[in-house]
Parts: sequence; structure tokens; C-alpha cells
Amino acid sequence: MNKILRGVIKYRQTIREDLVKQFEEIKNNPQPTSVMFTCMDSRMLPTRFTQSRVGDMFVVRNAGNMIPEAPTYGTSSEVSVTTEPAALELAVKRGGIRHVVVCGHSDCKAINTLYRLHQCPKEFDPSSPMDNWVRRSGYSSIKRLNERIHRGPSIMKFDSEVAPSQSFEAIIDPMDKLSAEDKLSQVNIFQQTDNPVFICFQINVLQQLVNICSHQILQEHLESGRLHIHGMWFDVYTGDDYLFSKDKKRFVVIDEKTVDKHLSELNARCPLPEDQDGPVAFAKAK
Ligand SMILES: [Zn+2]
Repeated sequence: MNKILRGVIKYRQTIREDLVKQFEEIKNNPQPTSVMFTCMDSRMLPTRFTQSRVGDMFVVRNAGNMIPEAPTYGTSSEVSVTTEPAALELAVKRGGIRHVVVCGHSDCKAINTLYRLHQCPKEFDPSSPMDNWVRRSGYSSIKRLNERIHRGPSIMKFDSEVAPSQSFEAIIDPMDKLSAEDKLSQVNIFQQTDNPVFICFQINVLQQLVNICSHQILQEHLESGRLHIHGMWFDVYTGDDYLFSKDKKRFVVIDEKTVDKHLSELNARCPLPEDQDGPVAFAKAK
């Protein structure tokens, strides 16, 4: 607590005044444009690595940035409420948010646990909330990891039954070289190793995009093109952010050289400008 209390004093002496001004500016009209699901890991500082300001973004954090898919969420006789679908409903249906981002990261302890339990099922501890969380929420990711290992490096399909327009393909092949004409991404973290855990990191983020689409409450928003779901990845060793490119079918670093290509792909996929049909306009339309 010493660090926290001393931090509060430093905050009061430095950024507090500016933050209060920002609170005042958005007091009557906060218009966040995205919700980010990311890991609770202490190295993950999403508002810093996106330089978000007050009111820009909702953030939901848990172990392993997982969003339970609808079939595991509950049944008519037994509803198991978790934060993640509730946060989606709050942000998208009530807040008019048009961009949902799932951001994973390297050296994720939750994914390491998921992978360890997959390798050694006997280590599963029924009394461990963490073991239960990663096994239940990461079940689909492990299924896809097995598929990838069994089939080898090839295009994987991530299909959504509830929102077919959101289906996409991914090349999950860390050892593959980018095509010669592809100057877009000089670096791809997933090329560094063929370690299955690295593949698992990647698959887990992409599987969460499918899990989000499994929730019926979002179907109309997704199929009408008002809501878009994105996969991001943060490398805690280099500080680089990656965005999954549906055109390239892989994660591509976001830097000064690639950002325009990312933006043009997003503009083509998400044609409505933020300020043209944002939360206010959408709320009125509903
Ligand atoms: Zn993590």
C-alpha cells in the first residue's frame, strides 16, 4: 500500500488538475468509442499504450483476456452471469459503442496456465478458481490449438454462426515468411518461435473474437455493420502493439510504417465515421 499511497500524492501534485479539466469537458456528453478486453497483467497499461484520454475507452480486464462464449454462459435453467457479456451489453447496446477490441499479450500467465493444464490435465485443481476459469473460458482456444498442431501451418477459419459477416481466416504459422511484396510488416512476433504456447497466445485472441460473436444480443449490431470487433496483441518485451489484419490474415505491428495501411483497411471495413453515426446518433436511431 505504501506505493499506492505515495502514488496518490504524486498524482495529486502532477496530473490531477489536468484530469479534472478532462472530467469537466466530458461531464455532460461522454462519448467513448471503444471497449477493450484485456488481461489483468500488471504490465498491460492499455490507456497508456493507446494514449487514450478520459472518456475515450471502456476497459474490461480479466485473467487471459477471455470472453466466455454464449453456450458456456448459461442455460434457461441455470444462468451463470459473468462480467464480460454484461460489459458487452452495457457498452454496445446501451452505450452505442461501435468497436470492441480484444488485446492479448506475450508471457501471459493465464495462457501459460491454460497450456499447462492442457499438457498435464492431472494438474487441474478443482478447488482453484483460476484453473476453472482458464479451462472453461479457454476450452475453445485449446480446441483450436489442437487443430492447428494436428493440421500444421495452414489457413484456419474462424467462423461465426450467429454473425456470419464476422467470420475470418488466419494464417497461424510462426515460421512462415511474409510474401516478398509484403513490406507492411517487417516484424512479426509470432515468427520468432514455433513454440505452441506462442501459437496459443495468438489463437486465444482470435477465438475471443468468435466468442463475442456468439452472443445473440450483438447479432443485429454486427450484421448491420454498426459494430466491429478487432484483435490486438501487445509484446511486453518490446512494447510493440499488433493489430490483426483480416486482409493479411495475420497480426501486423502498428508503427509509423504500417499505420496508414491499417487505417485504410479499417476505413474499408468500418465505413461509418465515428462522429457521423456514433453513440448519440445510434441511440436516437434505436
Ligand atoms: Zn495475461
